[in-house]
Amino acid sequence: PSSKLPNVGTTIFTQMSQLANQHQAINLSQGFPDFETDSELLNLANDFIKKGFNQYAPLGGIMGLKEEIARKIENSHSAIYHPESEVTVTAGGTQAIFTAIATFIKKDDEVIIFEPAYDCYEPTVELFGGIVKRFQMKAPDYEIDWNVVKNLVSEKTKMIILNNPNNPSGKILKENDIQELIKIVKDTNILILSDEVYENIVFEGNQHLSICKYPELKERSLLIASFGKLFHITGWKIGYCAAPKALTDEFRKVHQFNVFCVNTPLQMALGEYMKNDEHYNQLNQFFQKKRDFLRQGLAQTSFELLDCEGTYFQALKYDKISDKSDFDFATELTIHHKVASIPFSAFYKDKLNENVIRLCFAKKNETLEKAIENLAKL
Ligand code: GLN
Repeated sequence: PSSKLPNVGTTIFTQMSQLANQHQAINLSQGFPDFETDSELLNLANDFIKKGFNQYAPLGGIMGLKEEIARKIENSHSAIYHPESEVTVTAGGTQAIFTAIATFIKKDDEVIIFEPAYDCYEPTVELFGGIVKRFQMKAPDYEIDWNVVKNLVSEKTKMIILNNPNNPSGKILKENDIQELIKIVKDTNILILSDEVYENIVFEGNQHLSICKYPELKERSLLIASFGKLFHITGWKIGYCAAPKALTDEFRKVHQFNVFCVNTPLQMALGEYMKNDEHYNQLNQFFQKKRDFLRQGLAQTSFELLDCEGTYFQALKYDKISDKSDFDFATELTIHHKVASIPFSAFYKDKLNENVIRLCFAKKNETLEKAIENLAKL
């Protein structure tokens, strides 16, 4: 059959997880926790299933959960979203991203993305006939030159996709980045899709600047986040999109035919669990300990640790160890040293190879310890 995505294969996350399983390697590739989530949340899910909340939810999401989402956003960023008309619960961050792109991107619309870019943005834009324009952020500091970005903007620019904190680099946007962005979109109709699924994993000395903090950006933005990252439940596949009513109305037209609505009992459980802010207030400290544990463990090795301001990913430069491409190096590391990682080139269209790999540290300390032991031998 003819393919709408002839250049797309299986995602690098699935590929590397499979390779890890095949070779019994410690899997620090695909980003997911290997520890259990809070039993209180699991019990809530169980309770709501048993109490009979097993039929369709409203298409925008369960009211109690939407209210909690709006409350969390207001507390964190002093931004107001109306729960009923401006918050939509989605089947994870990826579905929210897909639906946002499907809703607004037409043939020949241009979309600006920042590489290293999460792998779903570009194919989704292409599916709807859009054209991707990319700015490459590069090792070691992944800075954005906004003058270059400005030159990517044209009459046809429909959307800018941000991923803050950035997966895989761990880079976060600073106040000056946001101010430059504000200047670029001022007096245009450009929409912003802001993928902030790691918003609660930002480390000491850094602050997460959500687009919704800035009225000039909020009015044109679709803000996307994920409970998978917030509560260690990537398999629940629940996230949300918060956007002004006019954008949400359009988003929901597509959402209703994409998934219609999302898992009812799990939404109920999340709505109840989110009433207690303590359940996510300490997340950054929890992951900071893991980040530091991994960094300290690797400090004496030949790997170069790049900065990690947020997310649960650590970038490692390995050019003192090997001159292989990052894909070959990651493959060799999995097969021979039993540690699976993700090659950074997977996040660049032209496969830019800067000898950098990504390790996920959302793992038990004992898992990280074993990985450190193996990597220290290189
Ligand atoms: N977001 C996860 C990561 O970056 C992967 C999710 C997926 O496999 N699609 O590792």
